[in-house]
Amino acid sequence: MRAFECKMCGECCYGKGGIIVEQEEIKRISRFLGIAPKVFLARFCEKRNGHLYLGTGPDGFCVFFDREKACLIHPVKPDICSLWPFYPANVNDKETWELAKDACPGINPDCSFEEFVRQSKK
Ligand code: SF4
Ligand code: SF4
Repeated sequence: MRAFECKMCGECCYGKGGIIVEQEEIKRISRFLGIAPKVFLARFCEKRNGHLYLGTGPDGFCVFFDREKACLIHPVKPDICSLWPFYPANVNDKETWELAKDACPGINPDCSFEEFVRQSKK
C-alpha cells in the first residue's frame, strides 16, 4: 500500500509563498528554464525577512503551478516541494501527520502512521 500518491490538486501550491529557494535551487531552476539566475529572481521570486521565496500569481497559486500540468518545474522543483509529505514534522509526530492528511488528499488515509514513517525512509 502506498502511503502517498500526489493527486495533483495543487492545494499545497496555493497561498502566500512559504517556499524558500536556496542558491543551488536558484541555479538549477534557472538552468532548467534557460534564463539567468538574476532574471529568475526578478521574475519569479520575492524577498521577505532576509529569505528568497517563490512568488505567487494573481490566482494565489505558486507562479509555477499550472491547473492542467501541475508543477511546471517538477523535475527541478525546490527540495521542500519534493520532500512533501515526508517532512520531519509529519514523520515524527502522529498528530501532525493527521493534520497533514486533512490538508493533502495524496496521503493515503488507509495507510497507518507506522507504514507512512517506514515509506518515508525509502
Ligand atoms: S496537496 Fe497533496 S495531493 Fe495535492 S498537489 Fe499537494 S502533494 Fe499533491
Ligand atoms: S514549485 Fe511546483 S510543487 Fe513547489 S509550490 Fe510551486 S508549483 Fe507547487
